[in-house]
Amino acid sequence: MESTVTGRKNGDQPPVVQYDGVVKRFGSLTVLNGVSARVNKGEVVCLIGPSGSGKSTLLRCTNALEIADGGRVVFEGQPLPKTEAELRHVRRRMGMVFQNFELFPHMTALENVAVGPITILGADPAEARAKAQALLEKVGLGAKGGNHPSALSGGQQQRVAIARALAMDPDVMLFDEPTSALDPETIGEVLNVMKRLAEEGMTMVVVTHEMSFARRVANWILVFDEGRVIEEGPPAQIFDAPTHARTQSFLSHLG
Ligand code: ADP
Ligand code: MG
Repeated sequence: MESTVTGRKNGDQPPVVQYDGVVKRFGSLTVLNGVSARVNKGEVVCLIGPSGSGKSTLLRCTNALEIADGGRVVFEGQPLPKTEAELRHVRRRMGMVFQNFELFPHMTALENVAVGPITILGADPAEARAKAQALLEKVGLGAKGGNHPSALSGGQQQRVAIARALAMDPDVMLFDEPTSALDPETIGEVLNVMKRLAEEGMTMVVVTHEMSFARRVANWILVFDEGRVIEEGPPAQIFDAPTHARTQSFLSHLG
């Protein structure tokens, strides 16, 4: 169900991810200072804001790459568990795509995509490889499965990374500036793959500086500043009629 009033999707259902007053400190530095927000099923929520405002840290608290010091992250109705063994189960349900791809350099593209299901989920290797091939085709790289990452462009590597995350059948995909390390000519191919994922209904949390992507694909924007969400709303509101002076300042200083 889409609500045209609020701009949110599936607001009548429990959120996939909920942040309740999340606090994160590194030493004496408070990086997240009480972030509350929700991500509903099928939503694309974009996190925007100045460098150092805490966007990556919130993303990393989502799948417990960082552990919040205060508040809580609730995933599919359950607060993130405490033990590493339990966290491993939760992390499998969340795909993550990093700025720098982080593919396994000694494996081919196909092996990169198939390895998680085989080693973590115990999938049949032949089935995992067939599924990996289908996922590579889905991201436009069906002919590149035999290439090692070093023989692929940045945009191609990032599409392999997306296929690798999808191979685990995640319930939500977390993207941390997935196009920031790319040559300009390969950014579009990655954004197009992400747009198609969104159209298929994937729940996505995306840290990005690509404001045209955020405007076209996100249904909800969180604006970060100094460890807080200072403003949130649908793209039209955030980009055309921001209410917070710092949002206006951030948007007006973008290229
Ligand atoms: P953003 O993604 O919005 O640019 P980050 O979440 O990466 O911001 O960082 C927020 C702040 O936290 C920055 O000041 C950054 O230097 C600091 N920070 C991030 N990770 C660490 C860490 N592991 N140790 C110490 N400080 C960190
Ligand atoms: Mg960041």
